[in-house]
Amino acid sequence: MPSPNTNSTNPPCPGCGAQHKQEAIDTALKTCPGCGYHYRMEPQDRIQYLTDPGSFTEFSANLSSLNPIDLAGYEEKLSEAEVKARMKDAVITGTCTIDGKPLILGLMSFNFMGGSMGSVVGEKVTRAMLKAAEEKLPLIIYTTSGGARMQEGIFSLLQMAKTSSAAAELDKAGLPFFIVLCDPTTGGVTASFAMLADVTLAEPGALIGFAGPRVIEGTIRQTLPEGFQRAEFQLEKGFVDLIVKRQDQRQLLSRLIDLHRAAPAADSDNMERT
Ligand SMILES: [Zn+2]
Repeated sequence: MPSPNTNSTNPPCPGCGAQHKQEAIDTALKTCPGCGYHYRMEPQDRIQYLTDPGSFTEFSANLSSLNPIDLAGYEEKLSEAEVKARMKDAVITGTCTIDGKPLILGLMSFNFMGGSMGSVVGEKVTRAMLKAAEEKLPLIIYTTSGGARMQEGIFSLLQMAKTSSAAAELDKAGLPFFIVLCDPTTGGVTASFAMLADVTLAEPGALIGFAGPRVIEGTIRQTLPEGFQRAEFQLEKGFVDLIVKRQDQRQLLSRLIDLHRAAPAADSDNMERT
């Protein structure tokens, strides 16, 4: 946890071991000013550097989780998470502009019960996709998740099918869908909508996978290769299209939106004539 005192010195950077002041890390969008190590970032902070000032308008804000399998202690866990993450569940969705271009943006929080996907995350992601399809807007989702929310049992697993079907609607409507995989993106989120985008971006060093490395090693009884499941490894294996530093994300996403804009009618007329 970053210290509230911005002049304090942090623990050594996990990337290079150097110590930097919190203020310097914050100025570098929560990355190490020395080596560029990307610390985890919450949705509220991402809105600041990604979107045009004041353009983000949240929708589906009042959805909050019930206790569908009557699990003891789940309501208390939800209340604690709400205070910790300052969110009602693990994703926020809204409309905004980047360089004046309108889009739908979804941002997950690892602080809210490990970014786990229960009924509310599934519903909000689905609504964001359907709204993008209906309003003919591009969709960007920043993922970070430990997977399905086990406290909701089968209802969590159903969200995988639900979000995947909504992503298919977006595809049918011919609208671009961009994912930015952040540290960590695992489990049911990786196994559903996080891998269904037209362009899959990742933050440097992000852990991206389904099961964790220890579980896999225990199952196959083999030592896994160096850097297994990191963004760089997944880029090499073809699961990720591009790794993009936080400082470059706004510009790149703006460009991707331009590149994926449907051709104006006049252009298609020209193409038919030639
Ligand atoms: Zn560093």
